[in-house]
Amino acid sequence: MKSISRIIMVSAAVLGLASCGQKEGDKGFKYLIDEFADLKVMRYQVPGWDELSLQQKEYIYHLAEAAKWGRDIYWDQNCSWNIPVRKAVENIIDNYSGSRKGQDFEDFMVYAKRLFFSNGFHHHYAEDKFVPACSREYFASLMESVGVENSAELLDVIYNPELYPSRKAISGDIVAGSAVNFYEGVTREEAEAYYASIVDEKDPTPISYGLNTKLVKGADGVIREEAWKVGGIYGPAIEKIVEELELAAPLAETDAQRDYIASLVAYYRTGDLRLWDEYNIKWLKDTLGTVDFVNGFVEDYNDPLGRKGAWESLVNIKDHVASERTETLSENAQWFEDNSPVDSRFKKPVVKGVSAKVINVVALAGDSYPATPIGINLPNADWIRREHGSKSVTISNITDAYSKAAEESPKSTLTEFAYDEEEIAMAKKYLSITDNVHTDLHECLGHGSGQLLPGVSPNALGEYSSTLEEARADLYGLYYMADPKLIELGILPDEEAYKAQYANYIRNGLMVQFSRVELGKPNTEAHMQNRKLIAEWCLEHGTEMHYCDDEGCRFINAIEKKVKDGKTYFVVNEYGALRELFGELLGEIQRIKSEGDYEAGKALVEQYAVNIDRDLHREVLERYAELQLKPYGGFVNPDIVPVEENGKVVDYRLDYTASYVDQMMNYGHNYSIL
Ligand code: ZN
Repeated sequence: MKSISRIIMVSAAVLGLASCGQKEGDKGFKYLIDEFADLKVMRYQVPGWDELSLQQKEYIYHLAEAAKWGRDIYWDQNCSWNIPVRKAVENIIDNYSGSRKGQDFEDFMVYAKRLFFSNGFHHHYAEDKFVPACSREYFASLMESVGVENSAELLDVIYNPELYPSRKAISGDIVAGSAVNFYEGVTREEAEAYYASIVDEKDPTPISYGLNTKLVKGADGVIREEAWKVGGIYGPAIEKIVEELELAAPLAETDAQRDYIASLVAYYRTGDLRLWDEYNIKWLKDTLGTVDFVNGFVEDYNDPLGRKGAWESLVNIKDHVASERTETLSENAQWFEDNSPVDSRFKKPVVKGVSAKVINVVALAGDSYPATPIGINLPNADWIRREHGSKSVTISNITDAYSKAAEESPKSTLTEFAYDEEEIAMAKKYLSITDNVHTDLHECLGHGSGQLLPGVSPNALGEYSSTLEEARADLYGLYYMADPKLIELGILPDEEAYKAQYANYIRNGLMVQFSRVELGKPNTEAHMQNRKLIAEWCLEHGTEMHYCDDEGCRFINAIEKKVKDGKTYFVVNEYGALRELFGELLGEIQRIKSEGDYEAGKALVEQYAVNIDRDLHREVLERYAELQLKPYGGFVNPDIVPVEENGKVVDYRLDYTASYVDQMMNYGHNYSIL
């Protein structure tokens, strides 16, 4: 199995995830622009755009055009009927002259929006076919009034539950039974036999067999691959992509970029997968540019056999401010290690931090639009990752938009589960920065800290190792969140900021996160276990705790359970005491890991991480359901608009005014080619 190359946001509302620092000029920018069915649509801002040179902006402009021209490819890959259905829907939106008021037309528009969101008539996440809430007769009357041809056939595709029920089948013949347009006339057995016959198992540097082709059984009964390339399937769209890439190339920031664009273009012209590998190796080594992009047949999740790449594009610029933060932490990795609250025998004498790049996207397309990942790690080929490494990025403006949009809705997990206005205000002021700093500490320093005693196996903690390892990294982050060093390094603004993170962590670990677990089920996922373990342990050990600070020594409750209007809350009473508890538990979990103390690790996980109090769990589920939050989110792109003076382009500005439907219709009108 390949490693996870795509990190998606499944629970922004639960995690309260956010991204790097508050952006300037945020006032008045609306993030949440549409909500329907189980979906919400947001806009994202692009910090750093104004600092780019004209040439960089023009480079991005052409890369973004190349992204938009691939849209139809992804629609057709999802199912061969998707584009005809979309064109009929667009025709109705453009030309229907009857009444647009009333439930029927509203239902039709919800269908249109869902279709646009999923790049087809299957749910983008659940993969099952959705049907309009308005009647077939009503839909037929819309089609008739705008003169849609083959409307009977289209209505059957749209309404008949037997036709194309699932984008990717999970039972029966998963190849023949899937709606995706990757195979034609072949069974699963035939497809597997075909690839078994061409794959060279001994090749240490194998191409990604089947990544950019459709597998077809011809009239002659012979099975062959037909490539997605210039002159092949999707030729007209790929020619446009190539045209824009060739306009972009002379504007590139570095020779390395020009070089990998040339390889990508050569691959699109020939379909030769060796060139795809060549492009990827050159691409992953380019770390100097500010502008970067993905464009190609990349992820294979949509193919029941895991070979065919879904087309996608993503254009981005480096977030220099956020990347500086991760670099600063990495440079100071040794200071953090030396000062951590663990036994000196368990510390690394020499420690090296990991620095990951933080980016802001400017254009999303294909498999990344409108639902988009919040982090990417590419390329996918195992041998390339092994021999050449990979590029790992977190997408800062997308997570930022998620958290800002959550704040815009009147109801959120924050307002529901925070105890009072003060706690809410603190979260709104600091959480978008502290969440990121905690993630950075966890990833860049936490996992890399500490050492095993000689002779201790890295697998000594067995089935408890992932939960304990995540707890160790989280605690490292939590402990240092409250350290004045972070203010000294310019990473946190003041000594109040960390409190927002502490309150959020306790609220989430003891309550909010249980909204994702079915009533009566135990808490099993490693990250969720780790959060519960830490919060429960601190709740217990913080009760009647002996604590000393400037005000002297006394017995306190660091965290307190409170009930208000019949609702339960967990409130942090003494932040300094909570930090002490985090440090103590970090020391203990590091000891368990360094000594390979399986029994102690097991006891911690079983006592604090697994079982959820049934009454509390029911209460959380009920309060969460009341909020009616949309579980899935997606984004519209800003339009990149050339600014002309005397017939010459002097600048490119970002226009954020397009509504969700406007943007979809604009793409349909101007970038539809298949
Ligand atoms: Zn981790």
